[in-house]
Amino acid sequence: MKVARRPSLIWFRRDLRLADNPALHAAAEGGGPVAAVYVWSPEEEGDWPAGAASRWWLHHSLARLEAALVRRGLQLLICRGTAEWVLPRLARQLRAAQVCCTRRWEPAALRQEGLVAEALAQTGIGFWVAEGSLLCPPDRVEKTGGGPYQVFTPYWRAAAPGIRPGLALRVPALRGLRRWPAALDLQALGLLPRPDWALGLREAWQPGEAGAQQALVSFVAQGLAGYPTGRDLPGEEGISRLSPHLHFGELSPAQIWRAVDGLPGSAAYERQLGWREFGHQLLHHFPLTPDQPLRPEYGAFPWGGDPEHLRAWQQGQTGYPLVDAGMRQLWQTGWMHNRARMVTASFLVKHLLLPWQAGARWFWDTLVDADLANNTLGWQWAAGCGADAAPYFRIFSPARQGERFDPQGVYVRRWVPELAGVPAAWVHRPGEAPAGVLSEAGVVLGRTYPWPIVDHAMARQRALAALGRMKAISRASVATPRIPAAPPA
Ligand SMILES: Cc1cc2nc3c(=O)[nH]c(=O)nc-3n(C[C@H](O)[C@H](O)[C@H](O)COP(=O)(O)OP(=O)(O)OC[C@H]3O[C@@H](n4cnc5c(N)ncnc54)[C@H](O)[C@@H]3O)c2cc1C
Repeated sequence: MKVARRPSLIWFRRDLRLADNPALHAAAEGGGPVAAVYVWSPEEEGDWPAGAASRWWLHHSLARLEAALVRRGLQLLICRGTAEWVLPRLARQLRAAQVCCTRRWEPAALRQEGLVAEALAQTGIGFWVAEGSLLCPPDRVEKTGGGPYQVFTPYWRAAAPGIRPGLALRVPALRGLRRWPAALDLQALGLLPRPDWALGLREAWQPGEAGAQQALVSFVAQGLAGYPTGRDLPGEEGISRLSPHLHFGELSPAQIWRAVDGLPGSAAYERQLGWREFGHQLLHHFPLTPDQPLRPEYGAFPWGGDPEHLRAWQQGQTGYPLVDAGMRQLWQTGWMHNRARMVTASFLVKHLLLPWQAGARWFWDTLVDADLANNTLGWQWAAGCGADAAPYFRIFSPARQGERFDPQGVYVRRWVPELAGVPAAWVHRPGEAPAGVLSEAGVVLGRTYPWPIVDHAMARQRALAALGRMKAISRASVATPRIPAAPPA
């Protein structure tokens, strides 16, 4: 659509890239100069404003985006305040014809979009919203009889054939404003941690579009073909590590799809992208699930673990090497391998009997890829209370998981260096190792590495008993007829 040659505003949200960005294209196609804006409004994210690790990532991603825009003669106007307050004012000040953005599907973000639409409509400024953050937006796939899918396989069978990412959009030619209004300096948002604990994050990641493109290219060249078998092995480089780039929209899912589609390994990889889509459609249809179980009977689950155990779990001091390796990888790099996420989450809710919401909050604060849809999906899966979840009665043994997916202990040795000298046969169960093996490896249980904080067999029985109590409570509440307060007349 051509509009008068007044400026267009591109409102960057979770699409922090220039390539394959339909909103940026729409702004450029307006024919006038383009002004780029980012609005920092954590209060509009409901109960889930970005956690500390995500804020670190966001700072660097914005810095890279700003630099890329400056190279094209644009500035990134950084603003603070609610979007429905900032955008109409800025658009009026610039005499802009339209505001363009990419849709975010989280419930709070859709609410924000609605408020912006209303505010802009009142001022007569156009509002153009593109899809682009998902491959199949949640309103496009539903069961034959209506309603959202709650099981992944039929969902993916229905959704995948409709995915046609189309041709990639190049970075459009952009013309900036002649005079730029005052805006905030990125530093003023205070996104970086004080004191600075982010060394491990800096060493592990390159936020921004260029880093995302590099990660994609190297995964396609080196990782994709081996992905179907390698993806489950946390000690190997068998996965893409694209999750934070995807979350912040430094890459679109369509760009990834185009890069992998048809290559060896792509079906398994595309299926994992499908879990991301599934997570978003669940969050869309069940917006309370970040805090509440999708299966209501789990609202009565008798949690009752020891709060001290939460701290041991957070610090990677549980005495279960695979759990500790995962939690320390998370703390040091802001990311954790999927297999370790499954085991650490399961350990918290089943071995320690602590509520999944406490784990989800910790992940939210410490993950650079913290994503409301995926994190909710993962935690409800681990706790057995979500859609297509692991049944609660199936309780991972962390030692056996380690032996199966990290047989040589490569992952454990990397993140739990005090166990580096323990032979593979014992590295996942140092508590059971002969004294001679431990002393040769320099391990003194209780001093250099903790004893297991709970006994696996006891914890398993306790978890199953708790599940039984929950079922009894939910049966009783179904069986008890509701008695009206007063007999009907
Ligand atoms: C308890 C728990 C919490 C999680 N929290 C998050 C989170 O906050 N943010 C997040 O992006 N992922 C989360 N996941 C899903 C998964 O662990 C990560 O997406 C994955 O580890 C990211 O690494 P990768 O990019 O190398 O994945 P790859 O294996 O290379 O997969 C490619 C992409 O597919 C998507 N994907 C892969 N597996 C899943 C999955 N199980 N569910 C949803 N999407 C998936 C991701 O976008 C990922 O980047 C969680 C999983 C669990 C069990």
